[in-house]
Amino acid sequence: MNEKIQKKTKILPFGKPIISETVVEKIADVLRSGQLVHGKKTQAFEEAFAMMIGARYAVSVSSCTAGLHLALMALDIGPGDRVAVPSMTHVSTAHVVELVGGTPVFIDCDATSGNMSVSDLRDKARGLKACIAMHYIGLPADMDGISRLAQEFDFAVIEDVATALGATYGGKNVGKLARCGVFSFYPVKHMTTIEGGMVTTDDPALADTIRKTRAFGYDKALGERALPGQYGVDALGLNYRMSEIEAVIGLAQLEQVAEFLQIRARNWKILHDVLSGLKYIRCLPDHLGKAQGSYYCMNVIVQSSRPRMRDLIGQQLKARGIGYSLHYPGPVPLFAYYQGKYHYTPTHFPVACDLADRTLSLPVGPHLQEADMEYLGMCVRAIVEDIAGSASHGENIVSLDV
Ligand SMILES: *Cc1c(COP(=O)(O)O)cnc(C)c1O
Repeated sequence: MNEKIQKKTKILPFGKPIISETVVEKIADVLRSGQLVHGKKTQAFEEAFAMMIGARYAVSVSSCTAGLHLALMALDIGPGDRVAVPSMTHVSTAHVVELVGGTPVFIDCDATSGNMSVSDLRDKARGLKACIAMHYIGLPADMDGISRLAQEFDFAVIEDVATALGATYGGKNVGKLARCGVFSFYPVKHMTTIEGGMVTTDDPALADTIRKTRAFGYDKALGERALPGQYGVDALGLNYRMSEIEAVIGLAQLEQVAEFLQIRARNWKILHDVLSGLKYIRCLPDHLGKAQGSYYCMNVIVQSSRPRMRDLIGQQLKARGIGYSLHYPGPVPLFAYYQGKYHYTPTHFPVACDLADRTLSLPVGPHLQEADMEYLGMCVRAIVEDIAGSASHGENIVSLDV
């Protein structure tokens, strides 16, 4: 790239949480109060979150991973149980199955959306005890198809909603589409509590079990004890609680999250306009059938037979200070831990492997202004055209628009 462009470089990170100044005071208040866990902030955050999703219960946890682990425990998933998980997901979705001693059954992707392929799920549905449906970069999975199979083959469905807060399916909020939904508040997700997560459900028994298991399996919560320290333990449990500090950050984020979601949608559309008509890349859809996504990022798929074109684009973006990410760097079953344990090869997950090689995730978060999005889009255009222009003659570059 020429020097003029280099000089204009602005740094655009992939994600940057927006924390309002007023939160700093609220955190100080919590610190001064001495009540750092088990307090009113956590309860208020749970109630407000349940209200926003329209779920009967919301149980705060220390991370989405913790919430998924608790959900599997509460559904009595254990050694030998088979649990379907997408191949293109955060490794957390599969790790929790291993943690309870179950066997993850990896499902290949649908090429249009990147979500779990319902036809591959059907092929592997016999003997499943559960399925974790994850909404890939914010676009809800085919929940009708998954739910139909769940009924036919009698398995439970959990939603991994880590990257899909605010998305809807048939007009219904994600987090309400299965037995429970598990959200992440990691800093680059739609809203943050630093670390943190939330389980939403309409099932009172499931909510109770998860609440109890997140706190050691005590038979009495702090407020239910006749005398201090008087509790029994009648179940196995963990310490997966959220602190009052995290809850107070979450409460403040809830006041801004509607605006965050609007900015993400706006940013995605600006970028989509700037990139439209550009050969060599296609964008994954922001809506599909009954699914309306919530713009976690813009996933572009590089349509070129040129080896590593995606990585060449990535190098140039990095050189210009533009943050991007990969969702995901590879299909989970081909990460060394799973590959070594279950001996998978790329032929088992052809669509996921192809997607992993070609995908590149561009930022659309609320830390980016309209002008940033236009700049980002123009940079991507220039980089792609430059690389394609220098491509050897006779190369087969295909252009597909979804
Ligand atoms: C981020 C993420 C997780 C893990 O969330 P934590 O809160 O960091 O545990 C799980 N699943 C998916 C799909 C994610 O994107």
